[in-house]
Amino acid sequence: MAINLDIVSKLHHKVFSSFEVMEYPWRFIEDPYKIMLSEFMLHRTQANQVVPVYIQMVETYPDLPAFVDEKEEILLNQMSSLGLVWRQKGMILALQKIHTLYGQVPPEYDKLISIDGIGPYIAGAVYCFSTNKPVALVDTNTVRVIGRIFNLRLEGEARRRKEVKEAIDQTTPMNNPRYYYYAMIDHAHQTCLVSNPLCEKCPLVDICSYCQNMQLSSHNPPKTL
Ligand code: SF4
Repeated sequence: MAINLDIVSKLHHKVFSSFEVMEYPWRFIEDPYKIMLSEFMLHRTQANQVVPVYIQMVETYPDLPAFVDEKEEILLNQMSSLGLVWRQKGMILALQKIHTLYGQVPPEYDKLISIDGIGPYIAGAVYCFSTNKPVALVDTNTVRVIGRIFNLRLEGEARRRKEVKEAIDQTTPMNNPRYYYYAMIDHAHQTCLVSNPLCEKCPLVDICSYCQNMQLSSHNPPKTL
């Protein structure tokens, strides 16, 4: 699927000129290990809830060898406030495997994606955020924002659809993709909400199909019998 390059260019201009990103402690760092910890913790959990746990974890276990040296029950206890024990267990197993294979968390996407328990989003996020090099990050946030801008079908398992993945791939900027994705994630949480997106305060309103369709339907309400 070819997307409108003029809209891509406007999207990048708006994001880099109008969007400010939140400064969480796992942002704008280059350590793949700390980025991976944060990405596992952020799965289905609000960032503000993750902040204190993340800070405690990286202070106690500043690198991968320190992390894998700790007993599993103590690690799980430290992360208990985040819930989802299966997720923490998966993270511990994945990090143990990485330690065995590489000693440290590598930034390379291909190495990360080959580890059980690490999917395309976490592998991509660790690569993109630690190196600031482009890779498509397909998750519920980017799917919603890009899907709405380009009028893609978003019902069901949209993130598995080819046209959605291609649109996210084709809109990933070559320059400063890290800032771009931080901005898109924040935008999805703060403005492009699941229900009732705040289009009236959105800098992307001029290029967004979803918003334009909403305006059209409110100006031309369906006729009723
Ligand atoms: S205009 Fe509305 S739907 Fe479109 S990206 Fe902005 S908040 Fe989301």
